[in-house]
Amino acid sequence: MSQADCIFCKIVAGQIPSTKIFENEYVLAFLDVGPVSDGHVLVIPKSHCERLDQAGPEVMAEIAKVLPVLAGGVQKATEAHGYNLLCNNGAAAGQVVEHLHFHIIPRHSGDGLFSHWPAGQYPDGKAAAIAEKIKQNINL
Ligand code: AMP
Ligand code: ZN
Repeated sequence: MSQADCIFCKIVAGQIPSTKIFENEYVLAFLDVGPVSDGHVLVIPKSHCERLDQAGPEVMAEIAKVLPVLAGGVQKATEAHGYNLLCNNGAAAGQVVEHLHFHIIPRHSGDGLFSHWPAGQYPDGKAAAIAEKIKQNINL
């Protein structure tokens, strides 16, 4: 998806309406139009990038400055008992809008929305092998 076709870039540009929660030079937060629960908020960088691993440190620093406060505000306002912070990256992971975004989803005890995913188990040696491979692919 190019930037010109990006629905969230259009929201940033004011070409598509949104219910804004917070805005500064770098970050915009607005209500998800299809809320999983009341107060479901999306937090996005104003500059276009598709995925977390494509976001530069400056962008992520700006997100980090406001995301915890926004999450706390959402929880308080909705009187939620907790919240999920979700960032889907890639279609395989459920990403539909290809502009980096963080979901803040208020959760109430027993709301039955979703909880634990199926946990697997590594056979002998596999954890070490995958850990080594990941290490080799991190350039820090
Ligand atoms: P994802 O599956 O992580 O890409 O989630 C995309 C989210 O964007 C979904 O939860 C949609 O409901 C939400 N969404 C799509 N279009 C809009 C819009 N115009 N305003 C607000 N939220 C939107
Ligand atoms: Zn975009």
